Amino acid sequence: MSTPSTVTDVVAFIESRYPTRIAAEWDTNGLTCGDPSQPVETVLFAVDPVMTVVDEAIAMDADMIITHHPLLLRGVHSVAATDHKGKVVHELIRRGIALMNVHTSADHGMRGVSDALAAALGIHDLRPLVPLAGDSGLGTGRVGELTRPIPLRRLGEQVAAALPPTHHGVRVAGDLDRVVRTVAVCGGSGDAYLADAARLADAYVTADLRHHRAQDHLMDGGCGLIDVSHWASEWPWLAAAAEALRADATQRGSTVEVHVSTIPTDPWSLHLGSTR
Ligand SMILES: [Zn+2]
Repeated sequence: MSTPSTVTDVVAFIESRYPTRIAAEWDTNGLTCGDPSQPVETVLFAVDPVMTVVDEAIAMDADMIITHHPLLLRGVHSVAATDHKGKVVHELIRRGIALMNVHTSADHGMRGVSDALAAALGIHDLRPLVPLAGDSGLGTGRVGELTRPIPLRRLGEQVAAALPPTHHGVRVAGDLDRVVRTVAVCGGSGDAYLADAARLADAYVTADLRHHRAQDHLMDGGCGLIDVSHWASEWPWLAAAAEALRADATQRGSTVEVHVSTIPTDPWSLHLGSTR
């Protein structure tokens, strides 16, 4: 007979896959809120620790939420329920729901956020786009190969079809007929790695690309760019992490029911195409 997992067990399962030591120094990963000894039967995975996700967890009677983004990243002097984050903390405690986040530890780790994004797009033979010092298997972003070369325009269409629908949609920059074989991806904000993508790939799929950086990259002959929704770029990892947690718990004679949030938590709620 299997034994129930506790918050401590779930944190340990997750950190065995995505250890905090590989996270960025400035980042926050781990348990934000919750009683370590509390039993956990149901876990909801989501990108953002926002109230709509807390409501989703309450509706499914989840005991724990695991998000990619941290709720409290910078110094906090109050969790009064006078702003959104404080209200989330209060609601979590009121409902007895634990909150953990796995941010850059999942960006850098094996089977991480960019691995899941690349897998969803059919990119294989993956290696880190920006390797972590001292460990070539870990790092930010991934670069890999398409099964067969296709034009940039076609890759953009495939990306749009593969990721969950959002109002942000998919934008493509560069020569649409350029043949793409090698693709770099970075789940979340990836414009800090444009130079790495330009050096290694024919196209770069990421989120939050800004005007000047994208323009300078293209003017300097950089690879094609595919700009997607931040939420959609990180969402494919949720299912991979949820399945890993379920498998790890089962292997240790424990049980956890896992669910993946389907609520898009991008801030955008309408997209109006403005081309004529
Ligand atoms: Zn992100």
